[in-house]
Amino acid sequence: MDKKPLILVTNDDGIYAPGIRALYHAMTRLGEAKVVAPDSERSAVGHAITISDPLRVWEYERNGDFFGYAVNGTPADCVKLGVKAILNKKPDLVVSGINQGPNTAINIMYSGTVSAATEGTLMGIPSIAFSIASFKKSDFAFAAEFAIYLSRMVLEKGLPEGTLLNVNIPALPAEEIRGVKITRQGRGRYEEFFDKRVDPWDRNYYWLSGKKLLLDNESDIDDVAVMENYIAITPIQFDLTDYKVLKNLQKWEIKLPS
Ligand code: MN
Repeated sequence: MDKKPLILVTNDDGIYAPGIRALYHAMTRLGEAKVVAPDSERSAVGHAITISDPLRVWEYERNGDFFGYAVNGTPADCVKLGVKAILNKKPDLVVSGINQGPNTAINIMYSGTVSAATEGTLMGIPSIAFSIASFKKSDFAFAAEFAIYLSRMVLEKGLPEGTLLNVNIPALPAEEIRGVKITRQGRGRYEEFFDKRVDPWDRNYYWLSGKKLLLDNESDIDDVAVMENYIAITPIQFDLTDYKVLKNLQKWEIKLPS
């Protein structure tokens, strides 16, 4: 690339999260990086956008240096606002993360990290979601190095219209990571329950909890690859049409009731 690429960096863990700090510093080594991110954690908000309230933007400094724009909105809001109102220019790449926690299987549906990248894709910008596969405080150094490597590749090769990359990186030291696998979204989901608790005023409240059920064992499934200490890269798209059922449904000959 002759010209420095413009890279929009966002996440769903919020602008104060260590993962976005690592991703931002990584992207500054690749081009001009701009952070537009939620002002607090917005994990599992999916592709929600804010339409009934105003969006406010703060310039957030870290150790006296400008770090990025904090927005009182969702990850998808941040990408929209970032491109249309803050950068006023279409970036060459949108990267989201590095999320603390895996975004594999069913998590992709709920993920704010992935939805931010999806929003980039909707706007016609090559986009990548990065997650580290652990909820425990992690060292993002290796994941950030990998983000540079893959982002450079995407900047060079581009991505097909409507497709983004969902990347999950094992939370391991570099030497324990066995390689990279191109994967499929698994069917894994949660066995969920609500923990019923009592607040200091004797009122009940509920907290969603659950255990992930691994429902696949093929090595090209996102969860399986990560479990086997591989980086999983899944190309995903947002056309939710079920083309197999579409053909069958046409045969139903659904008409206006007479
Ligand atoms: Mn998150």
